[in-house]
Formats: sequence, C-alpha cells, structure tokens
Amino acid sequence: MIYSHSRIETFKQCPLKFKYRYLDKIIPEVETIESFLGSRVHEALEWLYKQVKMEKLPDLKELLDIFKKNWEKNFNVNIKFIKEFEDKDYFNTGTKFLTNYYERYKPFKENTIATEKQIFINLDKDEKYQMQGFIDRLVYDETKKTYEIHDYKTSGYLKTNDELEEDKQLALYSLAIREMYQDADKICLIWHFLAFDKEFCLEVDEKILKKVKEETLNTIKKIENTDKFDAKASKLCDWCEYKPICPKWKHLEEIKDKPINEFLKEEGVNLVNKYSELLLQKQKVNMELDENLEKLKEALVKYSEKNNLDTIFGSNKKARVWIKDVLKFPNKNEIGRDVIKTLLINHGFYNDLSDVDTFKLSRMIEENKLPKDLIEKLKELHKIERLERIYLVDNNMEKEN
Ligand code: SF4
Repeated sequence: MIYSHSRIETFKQCPLKFKYRYLDKIIPEVETIESFLGSRVHEALEWLYKQVKMEKLPDLKELLDIFKKNWEKNFNVNIKFIKEFEDKDYFNTGTKFLTNYYERYKPFKENTIATEKQIFINLDKDEKYQMQGFIDRLVYDETKKTYEIHDYKTSGYLKTNDELEEDKQLALYSLAIREMYQDADKICLIWHFLAFDKEFCLEVDEKILKKVKEETLNTIKKIENTDKFDAKASKLCDWCEYKPICPKWKHLEEIKDKPINEFLKEEGVNLVNKYSELLLQKQKVNMELDENLEKLKEALVKYSEKNNLDTIFGSNKKARVWIKDVLKFPNKNEIGRDVIKTLLINHGFYNDLSDVDTFKLSRMIEENKLPKDLIEKLKELHKIERLERIYLVDNNMEKEN
C-alpha cells in the first residue's frame, strides 16, 4: 500500500474508519459540506494560478464565476450538513475566502512552479515504505533561493505555532522536494488559513524532519501489524462519512428520523428504555432499603444503650453493637493541621508518625505513648467522633455474616 498523510491521519483518528476507506474500499455515499467547500476553493485557486502561468491575470469576478460554476456543477443531495447553516452560507464563506485571497496576493507574481503537484516520499533507504501526496502550490523564490510549499486551509480553526510545528504533512512533502530538486537547500512551509486571511510560515528544520520521518514510519509499521481495527469515537464522528454503517452510530442513524411512535416501538429503543427504567427502580429500592437499615441501626444502638447490652439476639442471628468515641484530627489542608505538625516536630515525633498519620496519632494518645504535655496540647486540637457499627453473626457462631 502506498501511504499518504490523510491515510495515516485517518488511522490515528479511528482505525475502523481507515479500514472502511482503505482496506474495504467502501466509497462513502455522503460528503460533508466542509469537505465540499474545501474542494471547490482549491479548484478555484488552482485555476487562478494556471491562468497566471499563461501570463493572464483574471479579475476577481472571473475567479468567483469559476467557483460558482464548479459549486453548482458538483452540488448534490448527498452532501451532509452538520451545523445549522445552509448551502448558501457555505457558498458565501467560500466567496469571502477567495475575495480576501485575491485582494491580498494579486497580481500573483511569485514564481509558482506547480499547482496540485503529485510527489512521492521515500521513508527508508530500501524504498519499502513510500508515501504520496499533493502539494497545493509549489513556489521557488529566486531572491531568497528558497522553495515554498503552500497549503490552503479552509477549516474554521486557526492552528497555533506548536501545532504547526507538529503538522507532519508539509514537513514530509519537503522531503520529496529535497530529493526532486538539487538546489533545494532551503525550504519553507506556508499555510494559508483562508477563514482568517492569515499566512503562517515555518522554515524546515533537519531535527523536525528526522522526527517526523521516524514517527510516520512507526505509524505505518503499526498499521501493517494491526489486525484489529477498532472504532474510536470522538467529536470528529459527526464529520465521518461512515457513521451510517459504524457500529457505534448505526442504530442512532437508523432511528433518529423516525416518527415518535415508531421510534418508541423500535426493538432496541424499547430494550434500552426498559433496562434503564429497571435500573432506576433498583437504585430507588436500594436507597429505601439503606434508609430503613440506617433507622434499624439507630434503634439497635438505642436499645443496647438503654439495656446496657453489647449483643442483642434475634431468631437465628445476633447483632453485636460496637460503639466507640474516637479522636478526630484535622485532615490535610484543614485548619489546625499545621499546628499539629509543628507540635510533633518540636517534640521529635514527626518522623515516627510519617507526616501526620492521624490514625496512628489517636492510638498513641489512647495508649499514653506520648508525653503528657504534648497530649494536653493535642487534645485542644481534636474533636470526638462517635462511631457506631452493627455486626450480624449466626446465633451459635462468633464469625461475622
Ligand atoms: S463514526 Fe466515528 S467511530 Fe465510527 S468509523 Fe467514523 S470515526 Fe470511527
């Protein structure tokens, strides 16, 4: 298989999507409007630079006419809209992208060598691992003796500097340019973020190239050693063309547009609704049982105190009632904790109590293992907490049940 940046990114995004697209070769029935818009803008810019190469300078209207013509020719009912906007909104967005670009760069005098240039990248010496890609536009700047790899971005997200440095696509393309042209010592990567009318540029760095090459090879090897292509759901699923056949979403896709009565009768919907109802009932019953148990526990404690008992017998079981007042010291970050720490340090007990182990500290106070004056000071910092437990055992056994 010849790899491409989008194949590798697809695998990283979701192995199942990779399998559908590149192994099973399932051609999606739908295309997202964002991808449709991107293709039309790329086509229009490719057309523009072809005219410029032939020494023609189209005016803005001609460029927008080409965009409109291709939009109308290719628009179809299978285009999928995720957000609440309509096709005319996306068309207007594309018009704005091209207008801004035209006004900013006319008369397009950079030395464009090629548009939509196909390239092949060798990732290893044996040429076992190869990638292919298409450069939106390749420029050679004579004055700076620099090759420029231009990429048009139509998404509504503006990448940060760190993200651009991590962007492997153009860095990989520069490897091909280096192999193709003898004088390609200096290469710049240029991103055009059309939605923001911004241009970002990075000079290719040897260290980054080495890292990108290694990471790409590792991902390819991972793909080749995988036989399990699991679905990896993310917010990007909304833009995935395979949602209607994906096991994570197929059911929702099938039922989402059903009328409410049909929706509620559908077998899967029915099963999930019943299951969740029963689970809710179970939680409610459990809560009621817990409340009743708590009330019975309180009653048993009262009965044991009133009659001075620590064991109360039933028909088959007996309840052992355990009541204890324990010392409670402030927890970490609570007021008073620092004072205890200082007292323990001053009396040389801090290490014995590994930081401030309040359980061990309480025991040492109860067993009088600390100096009297320290115990007195510590007593000012603790509260008394009453613990009550009921242990149920068989009448004829001591073992807990
Ligand atoms: S919908 Fe999401 S989980 Fe399913 S194949 Fe597409 S990306 Fe993967």
